[in-house]
Amino acid sequence: MEVLLNKITDSGLDATSVSGEEALIFWNHTRQHVATTAQEKAQCLIISAEFRSELKQLQTSIDELREALDYLSLPEDAELVLEVCHGLAERLVENGDFHGALNQYISASTIAVDNGFIDAYVLAVLGMGNLCDAYGDHNRALRYYQKVDSIDHAITSRSLRLRYKLYMLACYIELNRTTAATELIKECEELSILVSDKVLSGQVLLYQAKLYRQNQQIDLAMQCLSNVQYAAGNIHSTWLSNMIRLEIAYCLSEQNKPHIANWLLESTRRRVRLYASPVLSLKLCDSLAAICTQNNDYQTALNYEKHAYRIESDLMKKIPIGELGASQLRRLSRFELQLKLILSEQENRELKETTENQKHTVAKLQQDVFTDPLTNLHNRRWLDVKLKDLLLHDDPFALMVVDIDHFKSINDELSHLVGDKAIVNVAHELSTYFKFRGASCVRFGGEEFLIILERSTLEQAEMHAENYRERIYQFGWHDILGERGLTVSIGITLHREGENTQRTFYRADKALYRAKANGRNQVCSE
Ligand code: GH3
Ligand code: MG
Ligand code: MG
Repeated sequence: MEVLLNKITDSGLDATSVSGEEALIFWNHTRQHVATTAQEKAQCLIISAEFRSELKQLQTSIDELREALDYLSLPEDAELVLEVCHGLAERLVENGDFHGALNQYISASTIAVDNGFIDAYVLAVLGMGNLCDAYGDHNRALRYYQKVDSIDHAITSRSLRLRYKLYMLACYIELNRTTAATELIKECEELSILVSDKVLSGQVLLYQAKLYRQNQQIDLAMQCLSNVQYAAGNIHSTWLSNMIRLEIAYCLSEQNKPHIANWLLESTRRRVRLYASPVLSLKLCDSLAAICTQNNDYQTALNYEKHAYRIESDLMKKIPIGELGASQLRRLSRFELQLKLILSEQENRELKETTENQKHTVAKLQQDVFTDPLTNLHNRRWLDVKLKDLLLHDDPFALMVVDIDHFKSINDELSHLVGDKAIVNVAHELSTYFKFRGASCVRFGGEEFLIILERSTLEQAEMHAENYRERIYQFGWHDILGERGLTVSIGITLHREGENTQRTFYRADKALYRAKANGRNQVCSE
């Protein structure tokens, strides 16, 4: 979408400034002259369909969404295809084409499962359940909603989770399953705090009021209804505001004010005619019939009953009840297993990733434990392990002790910080020189280093020590130390078979002492 918007801006157009009929022309032009890929053309149609829906051009809106689907291909565009399917289904329901809507829900559920889109799958199942609710079969609707319940934990959108729970709650209330409803409404209340959607919070209050009324607590019910806040009018808030009116009417009637209730319903009826939703009209006629009965106005009640019956039988004719039966539910059970499989694979993958991460952390910790932080060379802890290993396997090795000459004076004259820099450079030169020579370099303490040369003769060790000493002597110390240079003294010895390492150390130290005593900047062996 971002790419398309950039193209629109580049061609000197402004997508934000258009609305209404003008927007239709704008997006048609964009589709023909600006959009280049099939996906971009589909996006233009989707936006245009949105504007047509606002302009109540429902059929054209549906046609454009269908055209958009033709541009899209699976699996690349799966997400967009699902979005279009849901938009299409919603509009088809609005247009009274329940068959068409069910087909969209069916194909959306298949695509969602094939591509692992849980939320889109849930939306499709809810759509099917809503169709059952529409013709009054709340038991069957509940079976659809319960399908969602079994993958509840995998839903990513909180508001979607709240929505399906509210649908379940509505069924429980319609079916007088008060205990189940009372339990579920607590969950919905908690969720609605996190979701902060006015329509959904309003629905929670509406159902709470219904439960209070079923319990004869009319005052509490009225209190709930008065707490509903209305959001700006979209299809859902319109539905909510009408449902609230019906509920208030029922409460008024319970409080022996059927005339006011009747007046409220009549005024609602006039409003509802405008929207002509058969489901809402049906509920309204039911309420009017009930309240007229309470008013002893049997003739009007009978008329409303007849009207309700006509709407209901019309709905039952239009809704593909047969296709919403057992075989559809079985198909969803299959999907459910498929989704659970995807989810468990996902969980396994995540678990594996966590284990890998932990391994990585352990490796990192191990490295930290055995590494000197200033120089990144091995530390004494590592040396202990290494020496034990060498002795265990009787591996011959040469030991080399390197000590910086007159280091204390560098600290004293140029600061500790400069001293550190010198240590880092001496260490870096050590690891660079010995990297490919099968040697291990250890920072033994302060300005003293140890090198273990495995399977080395004394001559080889002396040669390397001499090379390294010269390298340090020639090193460009000027940038760090100014006028004064830096040298190292080195003592070398060979480990003798069967002796403990302290003895080896002792000899290397003695060699180093000789190098110092002889004037420093030299290699001695013992
Ligand atoms: P010699 O030529 O006899 O080895 O003389 P020297 O000054 O190098 O020897 P000495 O052992 O007297 O001094 C070593 C100094 O190293 C003493 C200590 O303050 C300093 N030192 C030890 N560890 C560190 C360190 O991590 N950073 C810095 N900047 N100085 C350190
Ligand atoms: Mg020293
Ligand atoms: Mg020293």
